[in-house]
Amino acid sequence: MTQETGGFAAFNLNPNILAAIIATGYEEPSAIQQQSIPIIMAGHDMIGQAQTGTGKTAAFALPILHRIDPAKREPQALILAPTRELALQVATAFETYSKQMPGVTVVAVYGGAPMGPQLKAIRNGAQIVVATPGRLCDHLRRDEKVLATVNHLVLDEADEMLKLGFMDDLEVIFKAMPATRQTVLFSATLPQSIRAIAERHLRDPQHVKIQTKTQTVTAIEQAHLLVHADQKTSAVLSLLEVEDFDALIMFVRTKQATLDLASALEAKGYKAAALNGDIAQNQRERVIDSLKDGRLDIVVATDVAARGLDVPRITHVFNVDMPYDPESYVHRIGRTGRAGREGRALLLVTPRERRMLQVIERVTGQKVAEVRLPDSQAVLDARIKKLTNSLAPLVADAEASHGELLDRLTADIGCTPRALAAALLRKATNGQALTLAAIEKERPLVPNNAPRGDRPDRSSSDRPDRGDRERRAPMPLAEGRARCRTALGARDGIAAKNLLGAILNEGGLAREAIGRIQVRDSFSLVELPEDGLERLLAKLKDTRVAGKQLKLRRYRED
Ligand code: ADP
Ligand code: MG
Repeated sequence: MTQETGGFAAFNLNPNILAAIIATGYEEPSAIQQQSIPIIMAGHDMIGQAQTGTGKTAAFALPILHRIDPAKREPQALILAPTRELALQVATAFETYSKQMPGVTVVAVYGGAPMGPQLKAIRNGAQIVVATPGRLCDHLRRDEKVLATVNHLVLDEADEMLKLGFMDDLEVIFKAMPATRQTVLFSATLPQSIRAIAERHLRDPQHVKIQTKTQTVTAIEQAHLLVHADQKTSAVLSLLEVEDFDALIMFVRTKQATLDLASALEAKGYKAAALNGDIAQNQRERVIDSLKDGRLDIVVATDVAARGLDVPRITHVFNVDMPYDPESYVHRIGRTGRAGREGRALLLVTPRERRMLQVIERVTGQKVAEVRLPDSQAVLDARIKKLTNSLAPLVADAEASHGELLDRLTADIGCTPRALAAALLRKATNGQALTLAAIEKERPLVPNNAPRGDRPDRSSSDRPDRGDRERRAPMPLAEGRARCRTALGARDGIAAKNLLGAILNEGGLAREAIGRIQVRDSFSLVELPEDGLERLLAKLKDTRVAGKQLKLRRYRED
């Protein structure tokens, strides 16, 4: 076990839970986890106050899993969340953390899905019930005893639940549970209404508050970029094209992410390495030394692994995954701008993380300006500038050493010096795209069209290339994309825009995430992001287009 997982090991959680955390790649507990887990494990009631993205789910899920009895096939813990989406997220997290606990099952209970299967799952012995208050009350009306065995209750995002008008439902739910239960309440804010609930329904609660103090950040230029989670890698690659950096550190949340991103960077020719808690101390020192002396230019690290890292060459910090709290944001970006130098910090923000961005701005007292992805012209300009910079110093003495050879070669080949120079350039640039058209072809993202919200903007949806309908041979796939096929085609009355609309709506993707759509007579092909494809296809499982089931599947050419 590495020294960092020691952070989680110190809680003395059930070893199966610890194993799942390690498998998930968490290295050390976030602040709210550090403080809440022992309290909840000890059976106390608790009020936890912390912002979005601080890791509250694991803060209650881990100790609750520890406390339930997997051998008892009855509901033991109830987690209430304000929306269906959040309930599903929490249920998924419980499934992840209980993966190595045989016999533990989780059921999500929310509106908009039939009640029968939910009730059946509860009666079949799910120990963990994650529910929205409204739907749970519907169940209580059918069977007032469903919660009779529940002795742990968590109110997640309590302030949001009250804002959505669930006060009365909560009262009904409290009454349907044993008075001896443990109750834990998490909320970003603690308005009077929440304090009143705590007063009435919690017993001697302990308080945990993750402070957000004001911090000062100097000499660092900060910016953020809105991006969907599954487009982070390609966004990072685009940004690197135009950022003029010396050395750069990228922060992600898990070990796996350090490895994945570092190898994606290496594949593009960057001198990059991963730094995470699994990496032995001597290896870690080697990585840092390499970053110092330029054998490496990019290190992809978790917060723990980057602790104490001080490399003056670092000009840029990319926060590829959101930090847990403003303090760690300030910590991270403090890796640059060392020794009075200027630094630049970039933060990738997914639509649902925008609240955390506001908190960071408030706490640091600075605006974090929005930037867009560079467009193809900017990428081209940057590439040409790099090429110019690398060739310019070679020109000075090259004619003296190789001028005669040039004369001889042009004579032998029978070409102009311009033709020969062009050939040498092509060779030297190794197939790199150096025209606008070539760059547009290789780039998976359409820039300047970053996601504006959780819902994609459909007005920009009219892009499918009509010319493709005639072309028979499949086009080469852009990197990071997979081709999918549906048996619906023109003869089913399908047009590209119908497919696009359905995938945007049901899949929750941004327009830029969807590549070429080709509608043939009896089938259609759609290019989708490889990253997260299985999840996306599962989401689209029941989608219908023009009244027919879409049934989108991965398509293999051979
Ligand atoms: P909150 O409920 O406070 O908004 P979440 O519980 O949804 O935050 O956690 C946000 C993200 O952080 C999730 O993707 C989760 O998997 C990840 N996460 C939580 N705790 C850790 C940890 N200790 N190490 C790494 N990632 C973590
Ligand atoms: Mg949460």
